[in-house]
Amino acid sequence: MDQTFLLALAVAFVVVLAAIGRIATRSPSPSGQAAADTGIGVSTEGMKVCPKCRMGNLWTERTCINCGTKLRG
Ligand SMILES: [Zn+2]
Repeated sequence: MDQTFLLALAVAFVVVLAAIGRIATRSPSPSGQAAADTGIGVSTEGMKVCPKCRMGNLWTERTCINCGTKLRG
C-alpha cells in the first residue's frame, strides 16, 4: 500500500520535473527576428522615416512633410 503510494508520488514528481524542464528549455521566440521587425528604420539611404506616420522624408527635412513630426537625425 505504502509502496504503491510512494511509487505514484515518484512518478508524479518525475512528470512535474519533465514539464518544468520542457518549459525551461523552450525558447521564448526567435528574438532576433522579432527585434528586427519591431524597430522602424529611423533613416535609410537619403531618407528619413517619420516615427509617427512612417512617411519617407528627404534627409534634409527636419519635420515630416506629411504630419509635421520632428524627425530624428
Ligand atoms: Zn509623419
